Amino acid sequence: MNRVYNFSAGPSMLPLEVLKRVQSQMLDYEGSGMSVMEMSHRSKYYDAINNEAEALLRELMNVPENYDIIFVQGGASTQFEAIPLNLHTNGKADYILSGNFSSKSYSEAKKFTDARAVASSEDKNFTYIPETTVDSFRPDADYVHLCYNNTIFGTRFTKIPEVPAGVPLVGDVSSMILSEVIDVSKFGVLYGGAQKNVAPAGVTVVIVRKDLQDKFAPNCPTMLKWKTQIDKKSLYNTPPCWSTYVAMEVFRYLKERGGVPAMQKINEEKAKILYDYLDNSKFFVNKVNKKDRSLMNVPFFSPSPELDKEFIDAAAKEGLVTLKGHKLVGGMRASIYNAMPIEGVKKLVDFMAKFEKEHK
Ligand SMILES: *Cc1c(COP(=O)(O)O)cnc(C)c1O
Repeated sequence: MNRVYNFSAGPSMLPLEVLKRVQSQMLDYEGSGMSVMEMSHRSKYYDAINNEAEALLRELMNVPENYDIIFVQGGASTQFEAIPLNLHTNGKADYILSGNFSSKSYSEAKKFTDARAVASSEDKNFTYIPETTVDSFRPDADYVHLCYNNTIFGTRFTKIPEVPAGVPLVGDVSSMILSEVIDVSKFGVLYGGAQKNVAPAGVTVVIVRKDLQDKFAPNCPTMLKWKTQIDKKSLYNTPPCWSTYVAMEVFRYLKERGGVPAMQKINEEKAKILYDYLDNSKFFVNKVNKKDRSLMNVPFFSPSPELDKEFIDAAAKEGLVTLKGHKLVGGMRASIYNAMPIEGVKKLVDFMAKFEKEHK
């Protein structure tokens, strides 16, 4: 077996311990004589998985009692459409544009509601988090939407924007869920695809405050309506059983290791190693506004696109793979989610230092 350090932005690394456990249960899950992949979602085995996954996520994220958690299909992108359809009262919604996914989310919302971009950092290619005050938002907006961590551009909100009283905040947490402590009570809705920090692609987590569950538009499709799955405990139709099962194993793994506060500490340490090196380097540079830097996704550049390419190819030979930056940014990007061990980050930085020395 020759495992690499995979810096992919998603799907991304899973903890080796979880993969081994899943492997050991692959052919015969808990004496059922079958794999979770082959199992009815109405079986007692899957019922236990569904319940435990929900309970553990609630515990790990400290989700208050007045919120429901559902596991659905369609990825975070489907929620871009679901949000304006599920939170529909006045037909107005305010968006903070801090990157590609918030812009996509905004474009979808425009089809269903009077969506307005109230702040944007597009002027500097999303290298910072735009400032807002409570007055930036319409007091009669159905919601305010933000993307907590900007996967492509490597920025994150370090403080939650203040919004008008009674206006729920909706947050896309796809690329930071369970990586740092989130105050769920500040949000009306949180959602995220699993394939970055939680599980294989397939399951999407949606957390919805109870008082917001009957505000769906009359024409909201059944499958997009959160209430449909909330009422059926995510079992209205066939759920993404396998991904939810792996998610449950990841939740167990995180709980055994001290939960989200412990993860946050390690993630801060990992990010510091990489950013400290970048800040002292005369070769590599991170162009993101310092106070808005992501803990999860770190874009960086060498002095030229040719050297970027040489670096990416040479790194891959050392088992440091998927470091190519997103096409909207270029250069390199190291995604250092929960499952990336600190050793992987140290090995990357050592390799960068060696490359710098050889090329400056
Ligand atoms: C990856 C990502 C998405 C898209 O997720 P899908 O599950 O592929 O639809 C949306 N938002 C953010 C912040 C992401 O990182």
